Amino acid sequence: MRIDPGCDGGRGLRALRSVLILALGALVLDVHANAAAPRSRPSAPSAAEAGAPVKTFMGASYIELAPWAAHFGLKAVWVKKGQSLRLESAFTKIHVEEDRREVTINNLRVFLGEPVVSSKGSLWISAIDARDLLGPILRPAGIAVAARPPKVICIDAGHGGNDTGTQNKPFKLDEKSMTLDVAKRVQRLLQGQGYQVVMTRNDDRFVELEDRADIANRAKADLFVSIHFNSFPQSSITGTEVYILTRSTQRSTGANKRETSDRVSLPGNAMDPWNAVLGYAMHRQVKTKLGTFDRGLKFARFKVLTLVNCPGILVEAGYLSNDAEARKISTADYRGDIAEGIVNGIVSYAAQLEAARKG
Ligand SMILES: [Zn+2]
Repeated sequence: MRIDPGCDGGRGLRALRSVLILALGALVLDVHANAAAPRSRPSAPSAAEAGAPVKTFMGASYIELAPWAAHFGLKAVWVKKGQSLRLESAFTKIHVEEDRREVTINNLRVFLGEPVVSSKGSLWISAIDARDLLGPILRPAGIAVAARPPKVICIDAGHGGNDTGTQNKPFKLDEKSMTLDVAKRVQRLLQGQGYQVVMTRNDDRFVELEDRADIANRAKADLFVSIHFNSFPQSSITGTEVYILTRSTQRSTGANKRETSDRVSLPGNAMDPWNAVLGYAMHRQVKTKLGTFDRGLKFARFKVLTLVNCPGILVEAGYLSNDAEARKISTADYRGDIAEGIVNGIVSYAAQLEAARKG
């Protein structure tokens, strides 16, 4: 069950659209290959550094996409002149379309804070999306803010006690029990690899959202991973989605327009670029491991993500409101796969952080 009720809108339409997007073949993003691009800069390039023109659209700063992408060694190829662009290198393919608030990076859906704009024959992308989302995913070595290597990891089993979370009646499943089971599997796997694990709960009890973040912060966790299962009134909806904290001044994925309340900078925003790296790594690993429908890397101001002072993520592994997906989640084998996918995401993030630190 999601904590932010604003995120339900448009899921059905997105599902249809992504069937088309996913019809493209799969490629693997080779972060090490991408890191072979120029790495001398201390931070991700600003629009000016990248030599990309800057304009304002709909009250937000935008940069021209093709010159910005060239800075990352990506060649821009029109799929449909003025409307749809492919940015490509030997290992990376990014598909961008005008008016869309999502792109695909090597066929994995990544949502943007602002829609892509077409102006005078060029495509433009929000400067914040370029700087704090796509840039870090493409080149973690360019991130200026330091993140600690993940040694202490806080695993948060969503819900608990009188908060059951969402339920599946035919299979008698409570979200709170499924999240705890997966969290314990993740704990065992991580401990087996030498990580120190802090749990926000080890049994069936209610824990306030603020207290979950507090447990992570007091333990000086280097990474925070919250585990949830999803629900939607339309029971045909399935798939995996991963959330990171919404960037300051941007709206969350489920919001149709920017609000005054979006002009907020939260403690978790200090780690925006690393949240992006973690988010993409986690979404790729979990979605690949499970073979589920791709519901995308999204963002929301979930309470737990706003308050943690380390990179944080919330994984919605599957839909209990869909009986076929619930049946899979009811099996220990599948929950083991979910846990493996999450651990793979953490390990991938750790490897990218390590490579970036070595620079
Ligand atoms: Zn939940």
